[in-house]
Amino acid sequence: MNDHSPLKADGELLSLFENQKDFVRVLIDGFVLVNQSFQVLKFNSAFCQISGLKAVDVRKILYLDQMLKLKVGMNENTVLKDLIFAPTPTRIDEVSAVNLNSEQTLTLIMSSYPYSDSQGEPLGAFILIRDVTAESNLQNKYRSKSLESITDPLTGLYTRRFFESYIEKELARRTSRNASSHMAVMMLDLDKFKGINDKFGHQAGDYVLTETARVLRSCARRSDIIGRYGGEEILVLIEEATEKTAAVIAEKFRTAIQNNEYIFLDKRIPVTVSIGVTLANEFQDTKDSLVKRADESLYKAKELGRNRVIVNYGDGPLSAIKFLKM
Ligand code: GH3
Ligand code: MG
Ligand code: MG
Repeated sequence: MNDHSPLKADGELLSLFENQKDFVRVLIDGFVLVNQSFQVLKFNSAFCQISGLKAVDVRKILYLDQMLKLKVGMNENTVLKDLIFAPTPTRIDEVSAVNLNSEQTLTLIMSSYPYSDSQGEPLGAFILIRDVTAESNLQNKYRSKSLESITDPLTGLYTRRFFESYIEKELARRTSRNASSHMAVMMLDLDKFKGINDKFGHQAGDYVLTETARVLRSCARRSDIIGRYGGEEILVLIEEATEKTAAVIAEKFRTAIQNNEYIFLDKRIPVTVSIGVTLANEFQDTKDSLVKRADESLYKAKELGRNRVIVNYGDGPLSAIKFLKM
């Protein structure tokens, strides 16, 4: 038998743990002491509760990986290795596991303290297990509830109220002078949308709105904020844009909508959009002045024949095409 035979190593591990024996009696969290083969040498009643196992079963099953099926994100089976073989104390949050008795999925926080022998050879680890399932469920519920309150139920876009307060906060946040980029605000309005409702029905109109929101989301970057401003009016806030990039992005939205196949009950619905674009002057603009300028540009786009992008960067309304060629 060499120096690191399981029995000798376990003996060493248990004697190192001996000092902590009294301390772990007062632990509210579950704990296990495991060797390098994942065998459970010590555990407490809180661990039994979390795993859903009786003490006799823990002793019978012996291997920790067979008591808790652990997973972080999509990744199974590496959690225990990460905890046991890490050379330093390690903590892993949002570990999911299953209680073997109730079959309930649990959310755990796990942390480990590695033990090694006098030569520095690893022996095993002391693992603390906190069950945060209730807190985590509550948080998820709260997250989805608060998302519900700021999104429009038909399109899933942000509500006008949220969008407006976001612009206000963004304007207040931007204090950097001489910034080479600014935030852009765009107002989009579907062309002759009343005609779509009249010709294809209100449900088809709803479908066109939902589909348009999907198209915009698929073209937008993660940082772009898209809100439903009114019936078929949509506002987009681009966090960092230049005169050219704002025009390019708006053109991308316009062509994506024009080229998208809108098909409702086997009927193809031609859809186009007009867009008004403006850039914020962080020191002069308010939410209202920004939206007003975008709206005036949109009005100009309608006046000039629809299905186009008009920008206003302070020198009055101009076709976006001018900026695309720059
Ligand atoms: P323009 O090109 O000038 O924008 O013409 P338009 O017909 O799109 O303009 P208008 O603002 O007159 O019409 C908007 C229509 O949008 C009127 C309203 O019935 C319809 N609408 C507003 N909200 C909804 C909705 O949630 N669903 C559906 N189906 N229609 C809506
Ligand atoms: Mg309208
Ligand atoms: Mg319209």
